[in-house]
Amino acid sequence: MGKAAAAGLDVVAITDHDTTAGWDSAAAALPPGLRLVRGMEMSCVGDGEDGAPVPVHLLAYLFDPNSAAFAAERERLRAERVTRLRTMTERMAADGYAVDADAVLASAGGSAGRPHLARALVAAGVVDSVDEAFTRLLAHNGPYYVDKQDTPLDDAVRMVSAAGGVSVIAHARARTRGRLLAIEHIRRLAAIGLNGLEIDHPDHSAPDRELLAELADSLGLIRTGSSDYHGRNKRVGLGEYHTAAGEFERITDCASGAAVVGK
Ligand SMILES: [Zn+2]
Repeated sequence: MGKAAAAGLDVVAITDHDTTAGWDSAAAALPPGLRLVRGMEMSCVGDGEDGAPVPVHLLAYLFDPNSAAFAAERERLRAERVTRLRTMTERMAADGYAVDADAVLASAGGSAGRPHLARALVAAGVVDSVDEAFTRLLAHNGPYYVDKQDTPLDDAVRMVSAAGGVSVIAHARARTRGRLLAIEHIRRLAAIGLNGLEIDHPDHSAPDRELLAELADSLGLIRTGSSDYHGRNKRVGLGEYHTAAGEFERITDCASGAAVVGK
């Protein structure tokens, strides 16, 4: 949080994957003058441009963490993440890699994911970097990848709405991450309560930003931006990409599940 204030931000969002476990410590670390939007990034599955299912990240902001259906879904995702990371790590250990499932899970805290295994592989000297771990060993088509049951995008949008939150599709045109979500699916989501599209993101090209901005305007969706700052494993600086003040106001106007923390 100190870094966010030093970067000149006046509002910052916390959106860990599939968990609200960091909300309290983030709020407690808030320096004066910085406000906090509590949120989450959900792993979902939508319709790809080619008609096959595609992984999609949905940002959920300012929702009520106690809303029952949404809380149950987060618990399912959390349990699945733990099982999956354990399976991947144990398979690698069985093949002779110096990684230990208990240690990897202990390092993960609230939301276990492949980056935790990637860091263990760097620490064990198996690979030189987190990026190399992902491309050589942990990629979707890699030898140790284990599938997970992500939330159907339509269900996720409805759960966020029911919890008083604001739903925004994250980095919808991030081509380097793989296949893309069908524009037609975005239109259908807007009709069932999707609130916004993330546009200014480091993985979006200028033409794709333009396409998304036009789409958002035509559907009445909020236009957001973010640096997707992860601390250790990304090259983008905190606050490099952001959401315009007017669009931020639209987010807070739509939200009824949780308040922005701080003044
Ligand atoms: Zn994401």
